[in-house]
Amino acid sequence: MKVHPLIRRSIIEPLWAIKSGTPLLRHWRELEESQFLSEKQLRERQWARLKMMVEFAFLNNAYYRRRFEEYGIRLEEIKTPEDLRKVPILTKKEIRGHGEELISNGFSRSHLMEAKTGGSTGTSLKLYLTEVCSELKNACARRHNRWSGWEVGEPVAAVWGNPVYPVGLKEKLRDALLSPTIYLDTMALTEEAVKKFAADWKRVRPTLLFGHAHSIYLLAKMVLETGIHGIAPKGVISSSMMLLPHERAVIERVFSVKVFNRYGCEEVGLISSECDRHEGMHINIDHLFVEFIKEDGTPAQPGELGAIVITDLINKAMPFIRYRIEDMGVPLDRKCSCGRGLPLMEKIAGRVADFLVRKDGTLIAGISLIENTLTRIPGIEQMQIVQNDRESIRVNIVPDQAFSSENRNELIRYFSKTFGLNMQIELSEVGEIQAERNGKYRFSICNVDQ
Ligand SMILES: [Zn+2]
Repeated sequence: MKVHPLIRRSIIEPLWAIKSGTPLLRHWRELEESQFLSEKQLRERQWARLKMMVEFAFLNNAYYRRRFEEYGIRLEEIKTPEDLRKVPILTKKEIRGHGEELISNGFSRSHLMEAKTGGSTGTSLKLYLTEVCSELKNACARRHNRWSGWEVGEPVAAVWGNPVYPVGLKEKLRDALLSPTIYLDTMALTEEAVKKFAADWKRVRPTLLFGHAHSIYLLAKMVLETGIHGIAPKGVISSSMMLLPHERAVIERVFSVKVFNRYGCEEVGLISSECDRHEGMHINIDHLFVEFIKEDGTPAQPGELGAIVITDLINKAMPFIRYRIEDMGVPLDRKCSCGRGLPLMEKIAGRVADFLVRKDGTLIAGISLIENTLTRIPGIEQMQIVQNDRESIRVNIVPDQAFSSENRNELIRYFSKTFGLNMQIELSEVGEIQAERNGKYRFSICNVDQ
């Protein structure tokens, strides 16, 4: 069915919104306007929402009620955003152990949307949210899609491992009418599959290419090696994984457009994303209150690394207050030249689980080790660092033809220097590094208690 994007944008979608009663368009328009408010105005709105969410949870949620009582916190003590630090951190373990209790009064699981986290750290969480809340999160993702040059009504192309295709007539119809999408499964990435994807591209004409960072990189490399042409996005959005600098460079070179990095998760939706200035990632303070907490429990100052702790300001069905997402990030105090009031944060230095441990207990971000070696030492296609005990580190690499014994020695020297000479470094050359079920692969895996 060939429909012009303008028809989709100005006629079909508004009619669909009226018929289905979705608040998506209303909220998206609000978000389009609010992004250019000053940071001060945005912070005031954020605080009002935060206060409301904490009050709501205290009055209507058995889990928070109990936690507040256990910690002796009274509602009237939360007078400023800083006071929120009195509330204990919500961990993934807590959520797994108290899933039922975390559902607020007045909501029943049978009427809520269920989502599951990927579980790439070996744990998976069941989450619940209302359809309205889900549409609010979609509105925020849509605002970011437009930053990349995509316009509402234009088709998109999705690239990752095991994509979820629309099922059922209603979903297929919605997909065809509102947002035609072509898919490429990078778990089965062959030249044939990419040729078919390019043919789909010519037929459907998507303008946005989005997917997991590494999946898009694999596609870009395949395009580079085979010369398959016709895949021509206006912008690329990379999400769900750390975007490595060399991967970004290859993607930008192959498709001749910029990559817009996005950071988000199932639990709270879009957390931060790059605008067309690429001066940092704008934090979604419309929907979230984001803290960066240092190892000693104090807040990280601008430029300092901290564990990301998030309070969701819109999901009342299953409130997330001070949720430790197990990712690391850096808050920034500089302003983006685009003029948006949404504050900036620095790229994610890796998940907490991606940190490796020296013998003295100090931590090293696996991602930085990979950035410092993969991009500098020639001949390494892919790399993964695995630590099972405090005495040794295993480095799995997929070498290419350029990899020499000299490169091998350089790599071992680098790791010995970084971890100390008393750490045993094992280097294995492997044919491939297995991806997780969702097509993501983990750069570093630490199985040592930290
Ligand atoms: Zn900006």
